[in-house]
Amino acid sequence: MRIGILGDVHSNLEALTAAVARLRDERVEHWVQVGDIVGYGADPIACVELVRELRCTVCLGNHDAAVVGFIPTEYFNHFARRAIEWTREHLRPAEMDYLRSLPLKVEHPLYTVVHGSLHLPEQFGYVFSPVEAADSIAKQRTKLAFVGHSHIPAVYMHRNQGSPRDLQCVFEPEFEVDVSSHDRVLVNVGSVGQPRDEDPRAACAVYDSDAQIVRVLRAEYDIETTQRKIRAAGLPSVLADRLALGV
Ligand code: ZN
Repeated sequence: MRIGILGDVHSNLEALTAAVARLRDERVEHWVQVGDIVGYGADPIACVELVRELRCTVCLGNHDAAVVGFIPTEYFNHFARRAIEWTREHLRPAEMDYLRSLPLKVEHPLYTVVHGSLHLPEQFGYVFSPVEAADSIAKQRTKLAFVGHSHIPAVYMHRNQGSPRDLQCVFEPEFEVDVSSHDRVLVNVGSVGQPRDEDPRAACAVYDSDAQIVRVLRAEYDIETTQRKIRAAGLPSVLADRLALGV
């Protein structure tokens, strides 16, 4: 099966549409979203609707959690907090109920999905390094796990019989890895709607469970339209500016 993985969409409809088109080209049959559908951008309703239309397997992100009041906004920086408050005012009850219904973690037979780390998912910790990846992998019961949250694509691969902290890592804007000889693989799929690896293109991933290949892909999108919508909505302009830089 070919699984398409999206994450950290952050209400960026142009980026989400481009990432979905890129994954449709890869003949994806099943969809996953690793959390943070909303926050930062100006299209929260359309992004929630598209994720629901795709019937994605979805987990809760920290921005989603803050919008529905599960975690306090003090946890966020000034600009993120303003976007969370703006999003809360603009979502309809249907989207609020949907976000409230999302689990912190999903275990599917082929993969696990969590926003930050499988080590205390409710704390939304980040996986930035092999040390943090090892803590998450220690709790991983499926071969594959998909995460986001850092907005930087990466893969951490544990080989059979290796020591728990002996991980092979790849940190690239786009990559392809063969995972056939690994027993635990943690993939950070990057961010669709607000990449932070200095590559402004939308990031997404595809896992071919038959071929045992994981790829991170990038899709160009109309950044200027997204920026215009963010400014017109009265959201902080820094949230528009950073999209052009991928930071
Ligand atoms: Zn995020």
